[in-house]
Amino acid sequence: MERYSRQLLVLGLELQQKLKELKVTVVGCGALGSTLVELLTRIGVGYIKVIDADIVEISNLHRTLLFTEKDVGKPKALVCKERAKEINNEVEIEAITDIIDETNVEELVKDSHYVFDALDNLYFRLLLNDACVKHSIPLIYGGVMGEYSSVKLVLPYKNACLSCFLNYEGEEENVCETIGTLDTIVTTTASLQVQLMLNHLRGEEDNNLYYFDFRNMRFDKIKIERNEKCQACSLHEFRFLNSKEKKPACGIVKVEKEGPNNGFHIEKNKDGIIICYGDKCFKKVSR
Ligand SMILES: [Zn+2]
Repeated sequence: MERYSRQLLVLGLELQQKLKELKVTVVGCGALGSTLVELLTRIGVGYIKVIDADIVEISNLHRTLLFTEKDVGKPKALVCKERAKEINNEVEIEAITDIIDETNVEELVKDSHYVFDALDNLYFRLLLNDACVKHSIPLIYGGVMGEYSSVKLVLPYKNACLSCFLNYEGEEENVCETIGTLDTIVTTTASLQVQLMLNHLRGEEDNNLYYFDFRNMRFDKIKIERNEKCQACSLHEFRFLNSKEKKPACGIVKVEKEGPNNGFHIEKNKDGIIICYGDKCFKKVSR
């Protein structure tokens, strides 16, 4: 407990014990996800599952505190796991080198006490929301764009879920554009997501969406009501789980690949790269 002696002065022994028994899942291990993993590891969450199929690139380093130049070309989820074990060996970390889809997402999240959204794509975010709402798992949303960000604690059937207020218009949402951001925005957003979990563990049911304009230092607290026409928490249609929406064609997509199963390897082709983990392969389409 010496490790947590200063933290115990703030959180108390009972909450520290709760953290040790906690199972959380972080979906995405880019800038936001890796920062979340580091924060959750340091505060002593007992079990962390981290999901990402991507590899570290040099263009990630300006906003990703956990990765170094030595990690370029390695799987993000595995680097997150290694680094987290170096920080706090008492924490159990499971790294899943995969992307979520309608066939695996429910299984991946269903034993979690909290799920952290560290995704950068609206389709996958709403798919994750569908799974968390269906299984009544608290979801902690974090969205980053430029010098803006927003966070929200989703408590299924108690407050607004993401599908209550985020509109998915189909394919046009999946334009393959690169959205920049800064490490200051990413780290602050991840910190606020973890703070929402701590406050909820202390009994606070926070129903607000927090919106931050860092450039102008404007922080807004927006009360959002549940939407009675919400396709997830009101109508239980779960359109993303039921494959009713077209999947994005950019970022990382699963591909079928012929040939030998030779462990982790990367192949370059004209559209981008193919990343394989054994016989499971993903195409990374350049944005
Ligand atoms: Zn809803």
